[in-house]
Amino acid sequence: MFTQLLEVLGSEELAWQDLANCRGADPDLFFPERGASTRTAKQICRECSVQTECLEFAIVSSEKFGIWGGMSERERRKIRRQRAVAAAARKAG
Ligand code: SF4
Repeated sequence: MFTQLLEVLGSEELAWQDLANCRGADPDLFFPERGASTRTAKQICRECSVQTECLEFAIVSSEKFGIWGGMSERERRKIRRQRAVAAAARKAG
């Protein structure tokens, strides 16, 4: 996972990567086939000290695939929608 994380990020400027709990983990856990369990990956994320940073990065960069910050793409998409609704409400109000 960590190698793929670096490839996706394409950058060495994010210090939180160095603290990733998924270093050395099987990438297939974090990028599972459709319908495969994400439980183990999410457990690794729950014990990660940079879960918040990782999740925020994935949300802001609209990361399409994989478990990031303990959340699937579907879960991250829900957060993005909620943020968009909240931003629209602030703009209107
Ligand atoms: S939150 Fe999960 S995917 Fe993100 S760095 Fe930590 S272990 Fe890796």
